[in-house]
Amino acid sequence: MSMTTDPGSPLSLPRTYSRRGFLGQSTLTLAAALGTAAVAGAQQRSQIHAGEHGNGISNPGQENKPLLDENPNTNTPPETDFGDIGPIWYSFDLARKRVEEGGWTHQVTQRELPPSKDIAGVNMRLTKGSFRELHWHTADEWAFMLYGNARVTVLNPDGTMFVDDVAKGDLWFFPAGYPHSIQGLGPDGCEFLLVFDEGNFSEDGTFLLSEWMAHTPDEVLTKNSNLSAASIAKLPKRELYIFPAEMPGSLAADREEIEKSGPITQQQYTFKMEAMKPNKTTPGGEVRVVDSSNFPVSKSIAAGLVVLKPGAIREMHWHPNASEWQFYLAGKGRMTVFMPPGRARTMDFNANDVGYVPPVAGHYIENTGTEDLVFLELFKADSFQEFTLNNWLRRLPIQMVSSHTNLSAEEIRRIPVEKNDVIAGK
Ligand code: MN
Ligand code: MN
Repeated sequence: MSMTTDPGSPLSLPRTYSRRGFLGQSTLTLAAALGTAAVAGAQQRSQIHAGEHGNGISNPGQENKPLLDENPNTNTPPETDFGDIGPIWYSFDLARKRVEEGGWTHQVTQRELPPSKDIAGVNMRLTKGSFRELHWHTADEWAFMLYGNARVTVLNPDGTMFVDDVAKGDLWFFPAGYPHSIQGLGPDGCEFLLVFDEGNFSEDGTFLLSEWMAHTPDEVLTKNSNLSAASIAKLPKRELYIFPAEMPGSLAADREEIEKSGPITQQQYTFKMEAMKPNKTTPGGEVRVVDSSNFPVSKSIAAGLVVLKPGAIREMHWHPNASEWQFYLAGKGRMTVFMPPGRARTMDFNANDVGYVPPVAGHYIENTGTEDLVFLELFKADSFQEFTLNNWLRRLPIQMVSSHTNLSAEEIRRIPVEKNDVIAGK
């Protein structure tokens, strides 16, 4: 157990409180500065659910020290936490990797994170030249390039074809049922995050070209596709899934070849998310939003890419239209999710972790590390929508807010009226 004082002392507090000054002594210092009314408020806060903390925190038995060090708020939550809201965390680094000749894949779905009914995620690596086999599936697919370069194709029902190259920070969207391909390019292939709008989606449950042909009688393949017995004998007997292949030619050469058999589509299935101008830039960081308003094909997935500077906070907010599925790309942070009646859970998040926020639940994300905290917020929705606590409180008549909070008009006016999304640390 992480302690700054003797665990036997009735005054001992978990390190997390004293280090961040979130509650405890620093609250009293602040309260003294604000006057006696605030002192009464602070004392009241420290008494919330006192039965869950205090002396009972001592832990003389065994512990998994590396896990505790990575998750200081998870095992020893802030005093403001209470009750159970269900799982809000999982990590790709706990998920089994399926390793193939040309790369690997692992997934965090509803099976790993049961409340996530709307979204499942897959993290995949393809080495240079290697393919994720030609396939299609029941869910819409949204993807974010984490590393390297890839070439993607997707066919439209009208027979028009799309082909493009994607690099780090780019994304793509392929509608359910549309057949597509992904191939790693030079110099070192690629790694990407796939997001599907079905919590129970599985990468092991996609419709593969190799399997369909392997499970069709020879005479039907001859009749259907004009293939001779000798040609059919060459077809793969089992799935290819992820496999190495020759590097393709240039994108221009592939486009030219595609145009020989039919038209290229006008529909855009890729988007340069990281390269776009931020929707919000504040001293606390940046937010980029991609949804159907700027990327029309993405009708079922709305996404935010957030960069939080050390000490900064993604402000207290909630989303009216969907649950939130998060992927942490870099840094270290913590999130508290608030649910009725009076329940709250705080957990720590590191790179490669997944976070989950139930529909309309209140939450914030705080950068607790020394580097930028970078994460994706994903919603099964056509548009990114949010309410912020600050904006709500400042848009109401001051007396109404004062009646609810005991705060004076002057104190209420210190709350920012704008939706800042990212607020620098004090
Ligand atoms: Mn796919
Ligand atoms: Mn959110």
